[in-house]
Order: sequence, then structure tokens, then C-alpha cells
Amino acid sequence: MKSNRRKFITGAAGAAAAAVAAPAIAQSLPEVRWRCASSFPKSLDTIYGGGEVIAKRVAAITGGKFQIRVFGAGEIVPAFGTVDAVQQGTVECTHTASYYFVGKNKTFAFDTTLPFGMNQRQQNAWIYWGGGLQLVREFFRDFNIISFPAGNTGCQMGGWFRKEVKTVADLKGLKMRIAGLGGEVMSRLGAVPQQIPGGDIYPALERGTIDAAEWVGPYDDEKLGFFKIAPHYYYPGWWEACSMYSMFVNIKEWEKLPKEYQAALEAACYEANLDMMAEYDFKNPKALQSLVKNGVKLHAFSPEIMKAAHKASFELYEEEAAKNPSWKKIYEPWKKFRQDEFLWHRVAEQTLTTFLLNTPDPVPGKK
Ligand code: CA
Repeated sequence: MKSNRRKFITGAAGAAAAAVAAPAIAQSLPEVRWRCASSFPKSLDTIYGGGEVIAKRVAAITGGKFQIRVFGAGEIVPAFGTVDAVQQGTVECTHTASYYFVGKNKTFAFDTTLPFGMNQRQQNAWIYWGGGLQLVREFFRDFNIISFPAGNTGCQMGGWFRKEVKTVADLKGLKMRIAGLGGEVMSRLGAVPQQIPGGDIYPALERGTIDAAEWVGPYDDEKLGFFKIAPHYYYPGWWEACSMYSMFVNIKEWEKLPKEYQAALEAACYEANLDMMAEYDFKNPKALQSLVKNGVKLHAFSPEIMKAAHKASFELYEEEAAKNPSWKKIYEPWKKFRQDEFLWHRVAEQTLTTFLLNTPDPVPGKK
């Protein structure tokens, strides 16, 4: 009994010592205050929210010592100016979509997605395990940036059209709000892509300044009300089989962080990457049902349009590979990885998914 009691006392004393030691370590860590310029408006609660998820988790892990304050697009830096701001050190970080910056170099697209690229799971496999993160980070280094995957929408919708589009000829002269490489592919098919920030799309569509607009998917699109003026809702958004967002951090600021804060930020970005996708998969089904109840006409893009867009996309990629070394360096391994993923997904995943999505569940007792 005596020895047991001594053991207990020693154990308790040991635990008490550890409890005292833990805050001592935390106290030695510095107070860090960062500003994060989001590229997204606060009204886009799902995507903008990814930045808030990260800030809250980092603060919680570090006992409030590492604080990141997130600003909506335009509050301190314009939506499309955040890479410059991080590069110059005006802000420490941005939560953004890399493909907003294809005007600087088309290679920025890989971190988000490419038309006819990979779905969310395949993109994560490439980024986390397939060498993708190393490749994009090597590219971002020239912009003083280190990137962390931090959100995804999954496959997006193809957008809102005032009139039906059935053939490639129907796209001719069609003024469509669609950004990035998707816009470039659309222009190769005869459409006239327009870059319009989220808040200005509705009036442009209402006035007839544009004939069509893509945004995200049912949940975000419903809030902007496009269904009232452009009832034809197309799918899929072949230019965004997934759309991955990232936290871009100024490398010097990253290197200054204690390793505990680096780990906290990295973990929080993983969380945002998982959480945003789950949020969309939770919210989109209800929003789609509500849109259909409101009279929205759902259409799949015709095989003719899909095939022409697919072909035009890969023509664009090959042309870019011939003239842009940074593109080629990522494109070649990306292309190979994507094919390997398709080979695997075609077997188990697609077979079961196709069966389940097309087969009503049996009712027990019924033949
Ligand atoms: Ca989109």
C-alpha cells in the first residue's frame, strides 16, 4: 500500500509539474498579428468563410497568440491585387483562387483547376501526394509566396443562360461572364468572355449587357438570384471539375513564424480544405431542389459542346507548353498523374457511383 501511495504522489507531482511547464512554453512564444486579404466578398459566405475557419483555428491552437484578421475583397486590397500585396509584403497572406492570376502567367491555373482537369479527390491526391504541391510551390517562389491548399467547391455548375445553347454555333457572339482559362476556351468556341466581379453580374445579366454568367453552384448562385432573369441552368462547369482555393503566405513572414505556429497554420488550412467541400455538399442539394421548384430549367451541355470544349482546352494546353517553360514543367507530370487517377476512378468509384445514382433503393418486401 505504501509504495502504491508513493507512486500515486509521484505521479500527481509529475503531472502538476507538466501542467506548470506547458504554459511556460506557451508564454515564451511571441504574439503575432497578421492580416489576410481575402479575394472573396464576405457575401460569398462559403468560400470567404474558409479564411475565417483558418483564422479561428490558428487562434484556438495557439491560445490566441497568433491572430490572423481576415478582410473581405476590396476592404484593404482589391480582389485581384492580393498576390501583389503578399509578394510586396503589404499583407502577410491572402486566401484566394490562384487562377485569378492567369493574366500574370497561365501556370497560376494548376493550383486551382484547369478546364477538364481533376475532381476534388483527384486534385487532393495530386497536391498532397502526387508532387503537385512541390511543383506549384516552386512556381510561387518567384512571387515570394508559399501556398497551402485551403478550400474546394467540388464540380461547379455551367451557369445561367438567357436562351438555350445546343450547338457550338449557338455560342457564337454569346457574351458570357466567365473568368480565366475557361473564358479563353469559350472564346475559342466563338463566345465573348467577360470578367465581371460577383456583385455586378446580376445587373449586367438583367440589362442584357451579357447573355450568360457562370458563378459557382446552386447554393451561391441562388443567393445572387440569377434564376429570375436567366432561367436556363447548365451543367457541368467543365472549366471547374473542382475549384481549389489556397492560402498564399509571404515566404519571409512564414519563415519568421515559430515552428508551432507554422504547424497550426498548416493544420488549419487542411481543415478549411476539408470543411468547405463538406459545407458545399451539404448546402448544394437543398439549393438545387429549391431552384428547380422556382422553375429553373436544368440542361446538360450537349455532347457537341462538351467535345469541342475538351478539344479546344487541350489545344490551348499544348500551345502553352510549347512557349511557356513554367507551364510545361507542371503540365507534363499533371497530365500523366491525371490519366493514372482516371484509370483507377473508372474502375471501382465510377462503377458503384453510376449504379447507385441511377438505381432506386429497393423497398423491402416488394418485388
Ligand atoms: Ca466558377
